Amino acid sequence: MTAMAAEDVARFEGTWKRYPSVAALAGLDLAVRRGEVLGLLGPNGAGKTTSLRVLLGLVRATAGRVVAFGFDCWSQSIEVRERTGYLPGDLRLWPELRPLETADLLGRFHADYDRPYARSLLAEMSVPDRAARELSRGNRQKVGLVLALCHRPELLVLDEPGSGLDPDMHEIILEHVRQACHGGATVLLSSHDLSEVSRVADRVAVIRSGRIAALEDVEALRRRAPRRVELRASRPLTAEDLRLDGVTVEHADGARVLLTYSGRPAELLARLSRLPLEDVRIGELDLEEALRQLYGTGGEARS
Ligand code: ATP
Repeated sequence: MTAMAAEDVARFEGTWKRYPSVAALAGLDLAVRRGEVLGLLGPNGAGKTTSLRVLLGLVRATAGRVVAFGFDCWSQSIEVRERTGYLPGDLRLWPELRPLETADLLGRFHADYDRPYARSLLAEMSVPDRAARELSRGNRQKVGLVLALCHRPELLVLDEPGSGLDPDMHEIILEHVRQACHGGATVLLSSHDLSEVSRVADRVAVIRSGRIAALEDVEALRRRAPRRVELRASRPLTAEDLRLDGVTVEHADGARVLLTYSGRPAELLARLSRLPLEDVRIGELDLEEALRQLYGTGGEARS
């Protein structure tokens, strides 16, 4: 069994979870480093929720083990939970309780519950002071995030925090993940969406069929990731016009060219500035493609 590095907050070591009809985890190895935001990506049924639930001591691994803060996540789950904030994917709130009442109730289980902080987070996120049954899904999700944050945990575990939310709500959640991280917390969050995760994560791990299929620094992915570029010129463009390391011409139709480019933006712009262009469209970085080139697998929702 590998020793836990001092900078790791949590570690999955050859973790298996077998159900009668499926192995939800099949030898999962993954270390969560102190202070990082680690995004866990994968298609439906890949094992994301199960891995988070094993970490929280809600599900017992069949083989292997999971350790957090040096504690065994099953036999010492209370020690782990004291230091962890969790937003489950299937959040349920007491329908009659208002947000702060819910925080107060759960706060009884946490020595470090910080009521003024809970109150200020709820105000900051503009959560209405109403019974949970009257709140919109987005507002209930915000309450869930406040419940995960309000004892200032060392480790924040979020299961698909943005799922089903509109972009504004989504951004609020990501902003609080960033703030928690600046405050020194470590964050492990699962998602279907690489582009969403890459806005906040330092590293992404792709999980497939219960094991890690790819693990990469988001910055390194960004450096490798191609962008789609569409050009329209006042004359047909030649191969010589577009000669630059990192350029691959995908489609050329005289004066209209579609290419992908991976490299430094300044070099592309310098090259393009010499061409008689009438229109240019430069797309987003394609992180999926960068992952696929590295591991033969993207972070996409469905395999
Ligand atoms: P999703 O993105 O759909 O939430 P996931 O990556 O979180 O998927 P899990 O919920 O961890 O995936 O499920 C992994 C596999 O284990 C799936 O095949 C699922 O059907 C199965 N599974 C999960 N929980 C149980 C259970 N309690 N009993 C039987 N099978 C289960």
